[in-house]
Amino acid sequence: MRLILTFFKAYPTQSIITLVAMLFAGIAEGIGLSMLLPLLGVVIKTTSGGESLAGYTQSNLERYVIGFFHTIGLSPTIGVLMTFFVGGIVLTALLSLLANKKVGYMVAQVATDLRLALIRALFATRWEYYVHQPIGMYTNAFATEANRSADAYLYGIRVIALLLRATVYAGVALLMAWKETLIALGAGFFILFILRRLVTKAKKAGQRQTNLLNSLLALLTDTLQSIKPLKAMAREDMADLVLQKETNKLNRVLRKQVFSKEALKALQEPLITIFFAFGLYVAMIWWQIPLATVITMAFMLVKIIKTLQNAQKEHQTMVIAESAYWSLVSKIQENERAHEELGGTMAPIFDDAIRLDKVSFSYGDKPVLQNISLDFPRGTFSAIIGPSGAGKTTIVDLITGLLSPQSGRVWLDDLDLAAVDLRAWRRMIGYVPQETLLLHDSVHMNVTLGDAKFSAREVEDALRAAGAWAFIAEMADGINTVVGERGSRLSGGQRQRITIARALVHKPKLLILDEATSALDPASEAAICATLRQLRGTLTILAISHQTAILDAADRAYRLEGRCVHVIDKDVAARGEVGSSGAPA
Ligand code: ADP
Ligand code: MG
Repeated sequence: MRLILTFFKAYPTQSIITLVAMLFAGIAEGIGLSMLLPLLGVVIKTTSGGESLAGYTQSNLERYVIGFFHTIGLSPTIGVLMTFFVGGIVLTALLSLLANKKVGYMVAQVATDLRLALIRALFATRWEYYVHQPIGMYTNAFATEANRSADAYLYGIRVIALLLRATVYAGVALLMAWKETLIALGAGFFILFILRRLVTKAKKAGQRQTNLLNSLLALLTDTLQSIKPLKAMAREDMADLVLQKETNKLNRVLRKQVFSKEALKALQEPLITIFFAFGLYVAMIWWQIPLATVITMAFMLVKIIKTLQNAQKEHQTMVIAESAYWSLVSKIQENERAHEELGGTMAPIFDDAIRLDKVSFSYGDKPVLQNISLDFPRGTFSAIIGPSGAGKTTIVDLITGLLSPQSGRVWLDDLDLAAVDLRAWRRMIGYVPQETLLLHDSVHMNVTLGDAKFSAREVEDALRAAGAWAFIAEMADGINTVVGERGSRLSGGQRQRITIARALVHKPKLLILDEATSALDPASEAAICATLRQLRGTLTILAISHQTAILDAADRAYRLEGRCVHVIDKDVAARGEVGSSGAPA
């Protein structure tokens, strides 16, 4: 019920409109059904020649209905009663249609809103938090959990609609014969009570399904991303085994759900029949209630109990899906708590230099940088080299503001980066990572990433500046050639040039290349270094590598090792001996 309340709070107007439509549908049906007993009474009277059938007594409801028709000046003939009966049922159908259409739209809306909220929250998280998130779990949340949440909402609304309906039926039945109705209601709730374990069981299975899907999708995504070494070493069966085991667990959980659902359906029917057989016997043999009354009563009471049972069935389906909603919401909330502080409000200015001033940084209690001071003057081409794990990427992340130092400062001209509007600063940066990820799309699309504001001319300029124009112009479709990671005929160096063009098309002030040339052969690396040398001056370049090739191209170089930084004397380096002058550590 907490789920339904949550949805009501999230969509109050829509929910109220839906409920009111459902309530009126129930009332219209109640009015229609109220005609039945008087109708039967009139039929009996007419067919028995004006005489009341022996033992037939008018119920309260019948008297109220007939009284009502007399007040509005209509005589309750078969025709009039029939018209009201049919009218009530038709009106019910129309109102139900209205309510159901509304519910259908809202179900789609719930899934959409949850998806958007998840993406928004995830993209706004701190970098340190983000990198530790399992991708598969988010794919699962986006696809299955959002759908199951919407399902939970749909079934929750149906439960409410059915309960409303049961209440209206109970109202009509109470007017017909309150004692019998109370007994029937008691029996109805008793049946629900006996079967409630099947609902709890289904709920547990639903919860397991939610957990399993999360871990399974996380595992699957990781496996698919690293399938090549697995296949190359013929170890894919190991991953296959784990995936199979988890998938089979999921299968068992789904079976449990099926069993609970089917068992509930299967048990409801006999229980209700036993109850009615017993009820009919008591009513006709012990209490000697006339057949006409018994038939209409039985019709109403069966309707009440069936409606309650349907509500239980829908409730069962709801609780199976419910855990997906809570899982998704907890992801959204956790992401919101890990929200990234986007620095200050100062507009970034980069005319002079970026400086790291006595910066220390550690991941948790693992120190990576200690008291480091570095500067990158505008228009220069700087290189940072050092063994992997030295903290080079950490320096880049400090410059882009993805990480902030535990002590010391990052200066952007005279502004502390902590006071700068970080998104505005990042828009001035072109960033090229080691892993070139090309979309399976045209070169144009890969450079613009779908941003329509770039003209073909700008794309061409960026490709030229990145040294990619020569080989692209040779391809049959030019910038419309479809490239991609798989099956693409581009070399690693060519792919990397396209990603450099992607960084350049925004006309950044600072171009960062994090191991962008590390995976390339010496010739491609040298070609890209030459391109970078041409770009420097108009652009500030910071290239990071664990190889030394980049040293020749750069104007200034630092070597990072053992949490400290050394300035590399370029003249000494040019003679082949990488010397270091003890820099401020
Ligand atoms: P480099 O880029 O020089 O190879 P990094 O800056 O990526 O090195 O990492 C420096 C050290 O910090 C490494 O030892 C690495 O294991 C650790 N590290 C990097 N990122 C994280 C992280 N998100 N959480 C914990 N430790 C990290
Ligand atoms: Mg790195």
